[in-house]
Amino acid sequence: MHPFVLFMVILAAFILFSLIYFQRRKKPSAMLIFPDSFREILNIQVPFYQNLDAERKIEFENRMMRFLSHVRITGVKTPVEDIDRVFVAVSAIIPIFGFKSWDYINLNEVLLYPGSFGDEFEQEGQHRNTLGMVGSGALNNVMVLSQHDLRQAFINKSGKENVAIHEFVHLVDKTDGSVDGIPEFLLERKYILPWLDLMHKNIRKILDDKSDINPYGATNEAEFFAVVSEYFFERPDLLKQNHPELYELLKKIFQLPEPVRINSKSSS
Ligand SMILES: [Zn+2]
Repeated sequence: MHPFVLFMVILAAFILFSLIYFQRRKKPSAMLIFPDSFREILNIQVPFYQNLDAERKIEFENRMMRFLSHVRITGVKTPVEDIDRVFVAVSAIIPIFGFKSWDYINLNEVLLYPGSFGDEFEQEGQHRNTLGMVGSGALNNVMVLSQHDLRQAFINKSGKENVAIHEFVHLVDKTDGSVDGIPEFLLERKYILPWLDLMHKNIRKILDDKSDINPYGATNEAEFFAVVSEYFFERPDLLKQNHPELYELLKKIFQLPEPVRINSKSSS
């Protein structure tokens, strides 16, 4: 072969290789660009995000995108919109935002039903009757949520409830192998007994009708942990006022020095 032809062939091969190589490399980062439509929703609906400084906002966005690139969100008899993707990702990230390297290794898919999903699934026990659940058995690594209640939790500014936060806290609790209300991965050993003690004290108060904590929390320790976490993230101010001990321990569990209400700017 003529040296010039050989040179041209090598040059062509090199250009082709570079094109393919850089094309491939560009793809993942392109997927991680945070959509403006998501940011718009955060700026209207999620004060937790609004109150972060610029650097932490970027971290929050990156973690949302990492979550969304690993977890499929599928609508069952309902279309999935941006607002659903944002609310699911926000609910996933807030409880673990204090833990830099946390990823949900035990979740592949979130199924959204238009409303409560009644008898569609065999459920372990009576799980809130159907607004949300963390699957087991054939539905392991799947979470099911009512789309209506997912949205309502963020849009309603005065509630102490948030079904998606509730289910993600169950997943966090499940990471150590058991959903038992004791997040051993998060909680330093020395706090486990005080935490158990505090849970039992408060469950008794709920049963005696002397508590403003959602009575569903008296079902067992796992439900107590999930319910009181909803309260903590939705109304930290009110929890601090009504249950200072719980508030202090939950701050330690979630490693969030000063939690910010996730659905309202007001501190009333
Ligand atoms: Zn539950």
